[in-house]
Amino acid sequence: MCAAHNRLADMKRKTFAGGIHPPDNKQWSAHLAIEDCPLPAELIVPLAQHIGAPSVPCVEVGQQVLKGQVVGSAKGFVSVPVHAPTSGEVLAVEKRPHPWGMALPAVVIRPDGEDRWSPELQPADPGELSPEQIVEKVRQAGVVGMGGAAFPAHVKMSPPPEKPIKTLIFNGVECEPYLTADHRMMLEEPERILQGVALLQYVLGVERVVIGIEANKPDAIALISEMCAGTPVEVISLEVKYPQGAEKQLINAVTGREVPSGGLPMDIGVAVHNVSTAAAVADAVVHGRPLIERVCTVTGPAIREPKNLRIRIGTLLSHLVDVCGGLAEEPGKIILGGPMMGFAQLGFDVPATRGTSGLLLLRHEDVDPQPEGPCIRCARCVQACPMNLLPTTIAAYARRSLSAEAAEYRAMDCIECGSCSYVCPSSIPLVQVIRFGKAAILAKKRKE
Ligand code: SF4
Ligand code: SF4
Repeated sequence: MCAAHNRLADMKRKTFAGGIHPPDNKQWSAHLAIEDCPLPAELIVPLAQHIGAPSVPCVEVGQQVLKGQVVGSAKGFVSVPVHAPTSGEVLAVEKRPHPWGMALPAVVIRPDGEDRWSPELQPADPGELSPEQIVEKVRQAGVVGMGGAAFPAHVKMSPPPEKPIKTLIFNGVECEPYLTADHRMMLEEPERILQGVALLQYVLGVERVVIGIEANKPDAIALISEMCAGTPVEVISLEVKYPQGAEKQLINAVTGREVPSGGLPMDIGVAVHNVSTAAAVADAVVHGRPLIERVCTVTGPAIREPKNLRIRIGTLLSHLVDVCGGLAEEPGKIILGGPMMGFAQLGFDVPATRGTSGLLLLRHEDVDPQPEGPCIRCARCVQACPMNLLPTTIAAYARRSLSAEAAEYRAMDCIECGSCSYVCPSSIPLVQVIRFGKAAILAKKRKE
């Protein structure tokens, strides 16, 4: 047994209170190497792909653009630019169907097949850059959190002076069933990830750096541990439990501390970045390359050939289905992301964005057909809630539009993980009702 394996054997699996153990269903794609997805005939690049202000278009119809050229400029600090994923002609700047469930502004590009980079994008020697210059390169490259939340990375890299970051955590958990994109990234492109880890550590000047990986990826844990041996980076094997990869649960598992209600990780001196975000940071700083592609798992029993694909941002889901051999059968549900926190889609005419970690196609028989029953007060939802909430009580108030009472029971602390709905024997759609209740609380606050 090698030294890395011995270290692993010594590791105590860390985790958080609550949570659930759904089947991980990663066997469909975990063993499949990342493949480059062929360029589609058209790319629909949404201008709203991140948390914060959407980008504003800065190209015109008929204009030729180069790969990596800015096609949408950032609008404000919590915003990032959007770039052409390949060279080609701008066919339209107009509203197109978006994964968020509405038509939103997008830049439509017809690839010219030459895939020519913009000459303005030049590599740099990170050793000659100040932390501020690195943060600016990350902002210009449009790097956002790639675990799904799509929060601009440069914002997390710029904490206010009164909230210094002491612990930097990299999220390699990928606890959502079916998804294997981060797993494959850790196995196939660990150098890119670790380059980004080092850059983020330098920028934030942190004392402790941890990469957290769920124990169902022993090959990734062994490889990353071996590569980090003799460095200040600690690799932690985490218990296989959903939602282990949710930010607050990961922080709790690694540090034993809790992010205060309504607070941010930086309030307790912690920053969390996804492992694929770290790779994108390295691309931005070292190679000068913006975030125009990502790895996406196309999977589930309703697709013929599951794959881990490196896709260009703006690729239509219909193209991903074609590249994966087409549908095995008519899907009962189309989900962007994983089955627990992903977004259900009505069809395949929406594009993948920077936050698209997966396209999951379930059969009709996989989708729960149970009608909703009465609450039997079994408290399973309470035991499962990783935020220590009373889901059944919050949902009851939300259903009766009693926003103040729902807020009093900490509805706004709900991370919408869906664990409560998953365990409910009466098939009560708790997370949907609580989500509705949260929106009502926010609407009321805005009016006050
Ligand atoms: S109440 Fe919210 S945080 Fe708690 S289990 Fe349900 S969805 Fe998850
Ligand atoms: S799990 Fe369902 S049935 Fe049980 S207490 Fe919660 S809401 Fe009621």
